[in-house]
Amino acid sequence: MNFNAGPAALPLAALERAQAELLDLGGTGMSVMEHSHRGKAYEAVHNEAIALTRELLNVPETYQILLLQGGASQQFATVPMNLLPQGKSADYVLTGAWSQKAYKEGKTIGTVRVAGTTEKDGKFGRIPAQSELTLDANAAYAHITSNNTIFGTQWDKFPETGSVPLVADMSSDLMWRPIDVSKFGLIYAGAQKNLGPSGLVVVIVRKDLVEGGRKDIPTIFQYRTHAENNSLYNTPPTFSVYLLRNVLDDVKKNGGLAAMEKRNRDKAKLIYDVIDARSDFYGSPVEKSARSAMNIVFTLKTPELETEFLAEAKKLKMEGLKGHRSVGGMRASTYNAVLPEWCKALADFMKAFKA
Ligand code: PMP
Repeated sequence: MNFNAGPAALPLAALERAQAELLDLGGTGMSVMEHSHRGKAYEAVHNEAIALTRELLNVPETYQILLLQGGASQQFATVPMNLLPQGKSADYVLTGAWSQKAYKEGKTIGTVRVAGTTEKDGKFGRIPAQSELTLDANAAYAHITSNNTIFGTQWDKFPETGSVPLVADMSSDLMWRPIDVSKFGLIYAGAQKNLGPSGLVVVIVRKDLVEGGRKDIPTIFQYRTHAENNSLYNTPPTFSVYLLRNVLDDVKKNGGLAAMEKRNRDKAKLIYDVIDARSDFYGSPVEKSARSAMNIVFTLKTPELETEFLAEAKKLKMEGLKGHRSVGGMRASTYNAVLPEWCKALADFMKAFKA
């Protein structure tokens, strides 16, 4: 039972399909990794991955879907390189370590300001209310991290930014529920949580922002370059794209994002209910309204209990429950591919451990 925060569990069906096709993609006698990225066999996979992203997230035609490399961290730099011209400033809302990193990287490119933060004593346990934000109506964009993988908080309703494009790092929550893409200027997500293996980033960006993006940066970092070439300007990470296709096909076969959301909320509830019913034993450092359905963070009273908890969980074949090294405690990541029965088993174990 894999509760890793990322790279994380992948749907078994997506892996089994990869296994079955590994030596022979569609009767071609070769694996997908051995095909030219300019050939028909790979192109079909590539286009299907993009089409499934568009279909599942209901992405309007006014948006471009890009498949890029460099991880979400590279987007921390690529977003301001493209969208933050000289003379303009960009807003960042800080809700955790990843938004801090995005902000820091933005600073190396241009003028950025903090439009809100929930930091308290070095920790982040909540999501700000709209009224707490001091948004600049002239900002080039406003950046948020939709799910804070380390601290276990998640935006439920996204902030209103008026005509300022909202940019969201959705690395740990893209594809877990339906979203209204038209509310965003740009969405980016490293694939290694809900989408597939690492080495791939999905970017969904309004076409006018691509067209208006800066041209005084290296070609390879311009969204324009990848948009004009259907993300085939240079050699893409073909195996990662292939697995993205398999994962999205599996999401579709399992009812799409509405079904995913119901399943994910039910999974998270199983675990949060145990924490709440045993609050004398399990602590929750996250404000209830901000609880993430993807990364469930909880604490035990002493380091000895935490060590014992992890050791007992391991005996039950539960992996990845140790919290991020910067915050400690426990973290159960319950992405799409984490099965409801694993969450039930974890909830039962938590009850038994307390008893
Ligand atoms: N943003 C968020 C929200 C993340 O969870 C992570 C990785 N855990 C990153 C960015 C960084 O991703 P990468 O390692 O792909 O650069």
